[in-house]
Amino acid sequence: PLVDGQVYEDHQITVCVRKRPLSRKEITRKEIDVISVPRKDTLIVHEPRNKVDLTKFLENHKFRFDYAFDDRCDNAMVYKYTAKPLVQTIFDGGMATCFAYGQTGSGKTHTMGGEFNGKVQDCKNGIYAMAARDVFTYLKSPRYRTLNLVVSASFFEIYSGKVFDLLSDKQKLRVLEDGKQQVQVVGLTEKVVDSVEEVLKLIQHGNNARTSGQTSANSNSSRSHAVFQIVLRPPGSTKIHGKFSFIDLAGNERGADTSSANRQTRMEGAEINKSLLALKECIRALGKQSAHLPFRVSKLTQVLRDSFIGEKSKTCMIAMISPGLSSCEHTLNTLRYADRVK
Ligand code: ADP
Ligand code: MG
Repeated sequence: PLVDGQVYEDHQITVCVRKRPLSRKEITRKEIDVISVPRKDTLIVHEPRNKVDLTKFLENHKFRFDYAFDDRCDNAMVYKYTAKPLVQTIFDGGMATCFAYGQTGSGKTHTMGGEFNGKVQDCKNGIYAMAARDVFTYLKSPRYRTLNLVVSASFFEIYSGKVFDLLSDKQKLRVLEDGKQQVQVVGLTEKVVDSVEEVLKLIQHGNNARTSGQTSANSNSSRSHAVFQIVLRPPGSTKIHGKFSFIDLAGNERGADTSSANRQTRMEGAEINKSLLALKECIRALGKQSAHLPFRVSKLTQVLRDSFIGEKSKTCMIAMISPGLSSCEHTLNTLRYADRVK
């Protein structure tokens, strides 16, 4: 069923799953779709237990989330139930985060950065852009326009525990924490934006920077977390009124690269594993004042620290899955992780 239901505006954490369609390539090689979405909040993995007849002896793994998006849902539909309700949060002085989690090739970048039309990524229909559009709508609304908030955007990548500015030639940046545990990415480009068109240009620029010099699916972008942020400030102030962070996470299967023969790959894998585990703990503890959270274990959780603390923080996680039998194991890993975040 196509999702049709209530938008949970009161949820502090929303967790959902999105199944992408089989690709043309997968259909050509007769890949079997092992995922069904019987209800708008339920998804089942039909795992074959018999190598001879893949359609028999199925073990069904059933998962429930706030929403389960089947392969007919488009980005606009996913956006409506995930990030959209959180735009209000940042106008009301809170912090919002939206995570795309899943294996490489499951649709994280498609969902966040925009769908491919032909050969280019059309960033207009990605979650980054749709949220930016709503931010400008709220900005001009009677309720908020008197605040005269200033909107700015930044876009960076965390690769192997290091931060690179996607709006400034991938310049490497330092992360500093002051005595009050305020975290700052030193020198991060933050462009003031006055229109959706300006934001789209930044997204396009960052998307290009992210994938430049890469050729295959085994590219660096599958090993890096991309963070796009929209920040609201009162006029003439450096203080943050609200912030929305969108994170296109590294492929979770990379966290298993820890036994690779290649030392670099192994270290990157360990770093990804660590950051995704820390992220899970931080999301679960969202808004709770807990001194023991592993913010500093990874760069990802460290730079997002201010978005996890505070009563007004809200987050959504979209777990992306590939429908094919050959992805079954990774899919179950993804669903189990998402299940634990709820
Ligand atoms: P990831 O960022 O998770 O590695 P991508 O977003 O690059 O994955 O998606 C892999 C491929 O699948 C891309 O060619 C993308 O266009 C396609 N794809 C992903 N999700 C969908 C979807 N919901 N509908 C159609 N195509 C999709
Ligand atoms: Mg990607």
